[in-house]
Amino acid sequence: MNEYDSELVRTLLKREGYVFTEDRECADVILMNTCAIRENAHTKVYTHLSDLKVLKKSRPLVVGVLGCMAQNLKGELTRREPLVDVLAGPDAYRQLPILIRNAMRAQEDGEQSKGLAVDLSEYETYDDIIPERLAGVNAWIAVMRGCDNFCSFCVVPYTRGRERSRDPEGVLEEARQIAAQGFKQITLLGQNVNSYRSDDWDFARLMTAVADTPGIERVRFTSPHPKDFPDPLLEAVASHPRICKHIHLPLQSGNDRILAMMNRTYTRREYLGLVERIRSKNPDIVLTTDIIAGFCSETDDEFADTYRLLEEVRYHSAFIFLYSERTNTIAARKFHDDVPQQIKSQRVTSLVELQRRISAERNREYLGSTLPVLVEGNAKKSALQGMGKTDGNITVIWDKAAIPSQPGDLVACSIYDASASTLYANPDP
Ligand code: SAH
Ligand code: SF4
Repeated sequence: MNEYDSELVRTLLKREGYVFTEDRECADVILMNTCAIRENAHTKVYTHLSDLKVLKKSRPLVVGVLGCMAQNLKGELTRREPLVDVLAGPDAYRQLPILIRNAMRAQEDGEQSKGLAVDLSEYETYDDIIPERLAGVNAWIAVMRGCDNFCSFCVVPYTRGRERSRDPEGVLEEARQIAAQGFKQITLLGQNVNSYRSDDWDFARLMTAVADTPGIERVRFTSPHPKDFPDPLLEAVASHPRICKHIHLPLQSGNDRILAMMNRTYTRREYLGLVERIRSKNPDIVLTTDIIAGFCSETDDEFADTYRLLEEVRYHSAFIFLYSERTNTIAARKFHDDVPQQIKSQRVTSLVELQRRISAERNREYLGSTLPVLVEGNAKKSALQGMGKTDGNITVIWDKAAIPSQPGDLVACSIYDASASTLYANPDP
C-alpha cells in the first residue's frame, strides 16, 4: 500500500512541476513514506532521519514524513525531530504541494516552520488520481482504504482511518489504462481488501471484472480478512483462469482465547473450516499466512496451538512476527505486553524453523511438473538468471541461456529443484 501511495504522491507533485529523483544528494525535497505497523518499521524511520541531519546542515532542504507514522506520531515527531518540516498522514496527500511550498518559503526567510496535515477522512480514496507507475510487470490498484476491524494489536484503524471503497468504474478504467501501458499483472490492494463494497458491487464481482480486462494476464489481491470469504469469491479464485490461485489468509494465532483477545472474530475451528472450503473448491490454491507470536499473556500451551495449526494446514509460506505493542491500540490500553522478549523470540524462531521445513516440502511437490511462470526480471543474485512467479506466487529461477525471456512473458518452466523459498527450472522439454 505504501508503494502505491508513493506513486500517488509522485503524481500529485509532478502536476505541480516537481521532478522525481532517486538521488538524495541533489534533491530539494526528501519525503519518507512510513509504516507504523511494527516496532522495527518505526525504528528504521528514525535511523533514516538521523542520516538526513548532515545533509540538511549543508544546504536548504525540505524533509517530510508521510504515511502512518506521520499520522500516529505527530506529537512526538514534531517535538523530537526539528529536522522534519512536513508531516502528512495517508488521507492528506492532496495538501502536500502547499505544505512543501510553505516550508520552502519559510526556509528562504530563515524561519522555522512545521507543516502538519494529519486529518483522517471518511471519503478520501484519491479516485481521480491515476498514479504514475514505475515500469514493470505488476501494477497496484488500491480499491479500498482504511479498516474498521480494530484487531486489538493493530494500529491501522487509527493511522488509516475508516473503511471506504472506490467506485468500481474508476477501478476498471484504471485497469484498462494499466493494460494499455503494457502491465501484465494487477494486484488489488486494501487493508481489508475483500470487504470491498460499492452499491451492489462486492469484491468477487470487482475482481472478476478486473480479470476480464483484455491484456491482463494475472490478478492478485492483498490483504484479505478471513471473515469475508463468501462462496462467489472462492469460486472466482478457484475457477477464473486469470485470477491467481493464491490466498493470503492471515491467521495471527491458532488459539481461541488469544484470537478472542485479538478481536479477530473467528475461532480456530471456523478458520480451519474456511481452509477446508478453499481446498475443496480447488486443492491447488496456494495458502500463505501471517502469525503473531508472543501476544499479551500467551502461554506455552496456547502458542503450541498455533504451532500445531501450522503443521496441520501446511501453508506454502508464512510471515511470522514477534508481537510489538503499538501506542493507543486496544491491546496497549487493555492488556499487558507481558511475554518476555526472549520467549517471544524463541517462539518466532521455532515457527520460522517449522515453516521453513514445511515450505521446502511443499515446494518439492512441484518437482517434475511444468508451471506457467510470469517473468519479472533478473534473479537477485545473478543477471545471468531470470526470475518470475508461479500462479501461486512462488519464486522461480532459471538460466537465461536455457530459457530466453523478457519481463512480462509467460513461460513454461519445468521444475527440477526446490528450496524453502525458490523453485529452479529448465525449459519445458
Ligand atoms: N489487514 C491484514 C493485515 C495487515 S497488517 C489482516 O487483517 O490480516 C500485516 C500483518 O502485520 C498482520 O497480519 C499481523 O500479522 C502483523 N501485525 C500487525 N500489527 C502487529 C503488531 N502490533 N505486532 C506484530 N505484528 C503485527
Ligand atoms: Fe489491522 Fe485487523 Fe484491520 Fe488487518 S483487519 S488492518 S490486522 S485491524
